[in-house]
Amino acid sequence: MQRIYLDHAASTPMHPRVAEAMMKVMTGQYGNASSIHAFGREAKRTVSGARDVIAASLGCYPDELVFTGGGTESDNLAIFGAVAARADQGKHVITTVIEHHAVLHSCKELERQGFDVTYLGVDEYGRISLEELREAIRPDTVLITMMYANNEVGTIQPIREVGEIAREHGVLFHTDAVQALGSQPISCRDLPVDLMSFSAHKINGPQGVGALYVRRGVTLEARSHGGLQERKRRAGTENIAGIAGFAEALKIITEEADAHLQHDLELRTLLLDQLALHVGTEHFHVNGHAEHVLPNILNISFPEVTTETMLMNLDMEDIAVASGSACTSGSLEVSHVLQAMNLPEAFLQSAIRFSWGLGNTTKEIIITAEKIGTILERLRNRP
Ligand code: PLP
Repeated sequence: MQRIYLDHAASTPMHPRVAEAMMKVMTGQYGNASSIHAFGREAKRTVSGARDVIAASLGCYPDELVFTGGGTESDNLAIFGAVAARADQGKHVITTVIEHHAVLHSCKELERQGFDVTYLGVDEYGRISLEELREAIRPDTVLITMMYANNEVGTIQPIREVGEIAREHGVLFHTDAVQALGSQPISCRDLPVDLMSFSAHKINGPQGVGALYVRRGVTLEARSHGGLQERKRRAGTENIAGIAGFAEALKIITEEADAHLQHDLELRTLLLDQLALHVGTEHFHVNGHAEHVLPNILNISFPEVTTETMLMNLDMEDIAVASGSACTSGSLEVSHVLQAMNLPEAFLQSAIRFSWGLGNTTKEIIITAEKIGTILERLRNRP
């Protein structure tokens, strides 16, 4: 039987066109983009062509993009780079309790360095309160960092409103859009956001490459020192093949946005319908927001069986799902996101994240729901 991959929020299969674009670069372009000879100029052209494509897709100027080694590095550069450039203005940062660890652990490090960090809570659906955000802003607040959409439950935050509040108070606003990219129409120019993190491997591009959008006029202090690449904001020889792959992935996502969304929504509705059919609505609970949610993530608790048992049973059926964030999927700790949503203990202990995308079929969704029904039945009838 074919394996079924429903863990796209962790990483996605590479699109064949991306692999082709990268192969062309990997086999034909070995110059360093900083070299002045023809090989170097060719590499530089590849980077700048990719930058133009990505900027057009994201609705920003090419010089507003800093290529990085992925979402984690983009988040780190945004947070540490922004506060370092504003050291004379204050030492208070606002974030949320449900951020990805790339942001949460960065904020913990800021605290260790003497910063004050306010962690905003969320409601039972994973949304923050704009009122609480307003109340948290202080004269010494230098940065708000809040994810666009959550990687475990898919809940989308009111990013525009948060950005407007940040502007009113003259506070810089960073959003981690790693999980939102690809399923939300993102135009950096049209959003009141100063810094935005992206990662290629969540949109059928390569792992280990990403970008940070830095609005023109926003100053950042570099985190890595060395060469003058990326307008002195990120030293180091560029990952040319990765950047070319990232550009191709974004091009495809942009060209096929409508079809992509329809596909994701179809699979979402189907999974819920099929689970209702094979499991029964009284035996599962959807965690996350019903409306402000990504179309390709469903976090569901099956209170009769622990996350670990369900994961293992599905794995034996060659179906890959997750317990929560990819970075913690090796260890099955209770999710900090679900905890923050104040869900009943039984839901915390039995949550499964399904996430889908390119290559997933309706048949796979039907098989998955059927198997879950069979697994639950088997476990119920255990002596
Ligand atoms: N931010 C969010 C919301 C994510 O989901 C992830 C990856 O799971 C990251 C950041 C880290 O991105 P990367 O894997 O490219 O370092």
